[in-house]
Amino acid sequence: MTARTATAWSDSAAAATQGAGKPLTIVQKYGGTSVGSVERIQAVARRAVATHAEGHRVVVVVSAMAGETNRLLALAKQLTEEPHHREIDVIAASGEQVSIGLVALAICELGTTGRSFLGHQVRIVTDEAHGMARIQSIDAEPVTAALDRREIVVVAGFQGIDKQGAITTLGRGGSDLSAVAMAAAVQADICEIYTDVDGIYTTDPNICGRARKIERITFEEMLELASLGAKVLQTRSVEFAMKYRVRIHVRTSFSDAPGSWVVPEEELGMEGAVVTGVAYDRNTAKLTVQAVPDRPGTVAALLRPLGAHGINVDVIIQNASVDGHTDVTFTVPRNEVGRAQRFAAEAAAAIGAGKVSSDASVSKVSVVGAGMRSEAGVAVRMFDALGRAGVNIQLISTSEIKISCVVDERFTELAVRELHTAFGLDAPTE
Ligand code: ADP
Ligand code: ASP
Ligand code: MG
Repeated sequence: MTARTATAWSDSAAAATQGAGKPLTIVQKYGGTSVGSVERIQAVARRAVATHAEGHRVVVVVSAMAGETNRLLALAKQLTEEPHHREIDVIAASGEQVSIGLVALAICELGTTGRSFLGHQVRIVTDEAHGMARIQSIDAEPVTAALDRREIVVVAGFQGIDKQGAITTLGRGGSDLSAVAMAAAVQADICEIYTDVDGIYTTDPNICGRARKIERITFEEMLELASLGAKVLQTRSVEFAMKYRVRIHVRTSFSDAPGSWVVPEEELGMEGAVVTGVAYDRNTAKLTVQAVPDRPGTVAALLRPLGAHGINVDVIIQNASVDGHTDVTFTVPRNEVGRAQRFAAEAAAAIGAGKVSSDASVSKVSVVGAGMRSEAGVAVRMFDALGRAGVNIQLISTSEIKISCVVDERFTELAVRELHTAFGLDAPTE
């Protein structure tokens, strides 16, 4: 896994988009909608075979058919609310087994050998964090051997295996990570992510009709957008691509239109706008602990049990103290709100704090842009825009290249559109 220069990056990107030049190793990842029906699977097979026929070495990574992972998880939930993570992974990972078989079959039907591989067959070894496992290593040998035989390799996304041999999954949207990791392991020239939109947009094009396609975005900005809710790429896949310098091209499986490239910052030069994109995350809930004794160690005592149970605490604010007590508010993923409230209430009782209340009808809207580093007043512009739209801000958090506000969930789309306009991101009207 080697780092590449910006020049090599552009050359290879150009060669891949124009279909010219030397044979490349190309990873093509197809998401749920791209393999959502027999017809879509046949379209995937045609694209993979056409790429292969141009002389390229092709690794296809696939997700479960659209809706399948949700269906499998819902089945498990009918049996238990308890997180039996090991068994849930066995169930959740099965969706990808079906789709690799179907894609490989469809490729064979076109007269080219398609060879399917489950996670354990390409030895995608992960840690033991079921449901959110981290990839530790991949044995590229079975894949490169198949590529050398001129087969099209079809790898199951989303899954791996831990050192004990148990099936693990890589977190929702994890097939993106499987694809990027495969690309790094086989030193692919390009990792193409085929999805249901034709690129990375300034915000989710499904909620903002005036979103604009971004031709090139930096790893750093994409990482922020993804971690703030833009699910077009899974966060860890961007992290991994940044580390191993994997070239990502996000594009649609419904046409040949070129999509968006994720590139290193040095390649983008001065092109960057102050705000590159707007993201939102509905998977947010807010907890407030009242009357927390204002002394060293109490916030740590409150939040420690949540961390210990794998609950990710995001925005945290503590109010000024009155009479030695203060309120502490923080957000957690919405699907964890029940457990989070239980652990926080136990911890609150132990330190002599008051009641813990929760509100699961909030969302987080964020603006992201590397240009913020050198531009003052971005936060005020954001607050102004939300204020003019009548959207009340409940919590705020900032970092070097993003500002996030927690708002009432009912205002999510309105807030996204207002911010999109306020930061000059709207596509010109025809
Ligand atoms: P797949 O199943 O192919 O992995 P996902 O549903 O995970 O597809 O991701 C694609 C979706 O991401 C799009 O349908 C779109 O609604 C959403 N999305 C959110 N933010 C953005 C963005 N900034 N640009 C493009 N798509 C976005
Ligand atoms: N099938 C998995 C999911 O729905 C992985 C993926 O689609 O990337 O989360
Ligand atoms: Mg996805």
